[in-house]
Amino acid sequence: MKILLDYSLQELEEIIVSLGEQKFRAKQLLDAIYNGKDYSDKININKSLIDKLQDSQIVLQPINIYKAKVSKDDSVKFLYKLNDGNIIEGVLLRYAFGNTLCISTQVGCKMNCAFCASGLNGFVRNLSAGEIIGQVITANKYLGGTLKDRKITNLVLMGSGEPLDNFENLAKFLSQITNESLFNFSVRNITISTCGLVPKIEKLADLGYNVTLSISLHAPNDTIRKQIMPIAKSYPISAIIEAAKYYNLVTSRRITIEYILIDGVNNTPNHAKQLAELLKDLPCHVNLIKLNEVDGRSLKTPTIGSCKQFLNTLLNLQISATLRRSLGDDIEGACGQLRNRELKNIK
Ligand code: SAH
Repeated sequence: MKILLDYSLQELEEIIVSLGEQKFRAKQLLDAIYNGKDYSDKININKSLIDKLQDSQIVLQPINIYKAKVSKDDSVKFLYKLNDGNIIEGVLLRYAFGNTLCISTQVGCKMNCAFCASGLNGFVRNLSAGEIIGQVITANKYLGGTLKDRKITNLVLMGSGEPLDNFENLAKFLSQITNESLFNFSVRNITISTCGLVPKIEKLADLGYNVTLSISLHAPNDTIRKQIMPIAKSYPISAIIEAAKYYNLVTSRRITIEYILIDGVNNTPNHAKQLAELLKDLPCHVNLIKLNEVDGRSLKTPTIGSCKQFLNTLLNLQISATLRRSLGDDIEGACGQLRNRELKNIK
């Protein structure tokens, strides 16, 4: 079984020619797939080519919506089924400026952060580039969009998985999703979120896509970070800040720092002061997130008052920061929660 979306346009043209068909069919075929068409739909391409692809067990749509749960605020939580039966999730967030799709890069996650639901059931496998693109195609179709009339405006790679731990497929995905003859996303509308794999942050900078980089820091010092993020044992915060500065230097993009506020762990005014000190020379914006409590994890969410106090301490120290409005709470908006419930139901 092969996924057609794993190939670039150029690679696909070569395959099509090797099947004895004309080169231009490759783009025609991709247009149909980006419009959400599958073998069961009417595709405006010669039947002989479609038959050859189907005989070669080439998959057109690698992702299917298995469940869609709409929240009171109109955000949508998707459970998608992959061709091998694995389940991943995604969230569609609806803002005044457009529709943001949160996408996954792995089935499960190796990182096992103490606050996150995605690592609870371990790591299963990387998603291929086509499976990452497939999430955008599927959600776009759900909104009534097409290739030419795209309804998804922004992409955040903040679903389950660590994007930089699946670097090769991430790079392929970036190349395809920004392709001018396909979805043509601007890098300004793409955010990659990472737990801080230092060498890969540098590699991403050198790749030249200039996407927004979001770093899940979540702690003001290494001692606390090691308690909640096992990856902190491999990379100290100082190395992450250096890599972030390098990313900023190469791409001229301001870095986003994600900081989940966890009661009694990292949310005192003193922690805010330590954080401000770490970030004072880094062009960045801090996104504070009130912990979304996860079944199976013991960490607690702080009061809104203490979150505001943390925010104000940062602002008083001239650090740009906001407390993120939490969308989709009632549909288990935090990473991996819906998938975990579904896996429990299946077992
Ligand atoms: N592995 C990447 C991307 C996935 S996590 C990373 O670490 O950045 C993306 C973001 O999800 C995290 O930064 C965090 O902001 C958020 N997140 C995960 N679990 C959460 C929870 N329980 N409550 C609030 N936010 C959570």
